[in-house]
Amino acid sequence: MALGSGIGLPLSELGARGQVDAETVATVADVGGKIGGLFLRLLQMLVVPLIFTSLVSGVTGMGDLKKLGRLGGRTMGFYLGTSALAIATGVFFVNLVGPGRGSSLELLQDSAEGHALPTAAAHERSLGEILWAQLEGMIPTNPLKAAADGDMLPIIFFALVFAVFLSGVEHGAHDDHEPARDGPYREGEREEPEPVRQRRLDAALVRRFFEGFFAVMMRMTLAVITLAPIGVFGFMLNAAAGHGLAAFQALGLYAATVLAALVVHACITLPLLTVLLARRSPLAHAKAMAPALLTAFSTASSNGTLPLTMRCVEESAVPAPVTSFVLPLGATINMDGTALYEVVAVLFIAQVYGLDLSLSQQLVVALTALLASVGAAGIPHAGTVMMVVVLSAVGLPTTAVGLILAVDRILDMGRTTVNVWSDSIAALTIARYAEPAPAAPAPADS
Ligand code: ASP
Repeated sequence: MALGSGIGLPLSELGARGQVDAETVATVADVGGKIGGLFLRLLQMLVVPLIFTSLVSGVTGMGDLKKLGRLGGRTMGFYLGTSALAIATGVFFVNLVGPGRGSSLELLQDSAEGHALPTAAAHERSLGEILWAQLEGMIPTNPLKAAADGDMLPIIFFALVFAVFLSGVEHGAHDDHEPARDGPYREGEREEPEPVRQRRLDAALVRRFFEGFFAVMMRMTLAVITLAPIGVFGFMLNAAAGHGLAAFQALGLYAATVLAALVVHACITLPLLTVLLARRSPLAHAKAMAPALLTAFSTASSNGTLPLTMRCVEESAVPAPVTSFVLPLGATINMDGTALYEVVAVLFIAQVYGLDLSLSQQLVVALTALLASVGAAGIPHAGTVMMVVVLSAVGLPTTAVGLILAVDRILDMGRTTVNVWSDSIAALTIARYAEPAPAAPAPADS
């Protein structure tokens, strides 16, 4: 990271002063982006098979399906709770600092020039429509297509259902499927009919297949991690040379507000939860998480980082069934950083337009920001696209997204890191309260 920005920032500064020609700077940024891009592709290559196999082996390893229900309930509770805390932090900071109060709209419009609006921002949809589409989209009409498109929620949904029924075939009652037999079973007969026994063995084989597959995926992840420094270097070079510090001039106070609130959430709120709820050392955990956090920062993609997040969290001694359930779900729906960013950005825009939103309007912003963060995909700039929903909920022009695009990359890097950090702490906490699994799959690399 230091090397990438150490080369990129001075270069973009020299380019801005005309001492290095713009084309050279653009080429360097491009090369950095390409190097980082290769690393991100390698990670993305792992995501779909990793999530599927990890969920299947994780859920079947849980032994008892009631545990899955409890795990799901706690996970959702933790996710919503931490996102709400993040939003409260954002609302507090943006009201305290007031980065948009008295700032000139023209200056912002100037700095917005040359930044294209995300295409999805063009067509507005109501919140209800978005949520319904989200629910509908969770059920894949074709699981293979969902996998081919890398659609996380439908993959997760199918994997969970598949795993539940796989457990059912292996361990559940088989009465309905038993072939008719001649006469009733004898009193006290314990032997299962041969076809049922065979089905159980087949199901066990399928489960073991996925466990082995999962172990291979984790090994591949480990191999890709060794390339992380090169990928991170490339992305930092790209961001620093390509964007420089110029973008900060008009939007400096806004960006600083988002970053300060993110820092408070990541360095105070979440570590406190780590100590109080998970009873673990936040520092030791941060150390184990370093490769994932640096990758999240440089790639701005929770989905892309997921293989590393899983690997690092397992290093923090969280059992596989918990990581394989909590983390893929978290990468998709638990985005503390994004939720926080949404409220700060929208309240900032309202301030720029000279509107001081009432408490109830701020509450609407907070709630829609929460939903927007759940709906945002774990890919770069997804949160920015979803912001259209929050803006329209309080009647602000959706084109106002354009005003803040100049600094969006750096804020995306920050919020993605917080998203991943929060997922990992969710896993630590849930693991503490999870009942031990009787038949947990063996750790991937032992
Ligand atoms: N880039 C973020 C993530 O992957 C989502 C966002 O744009 O806020 O977590």
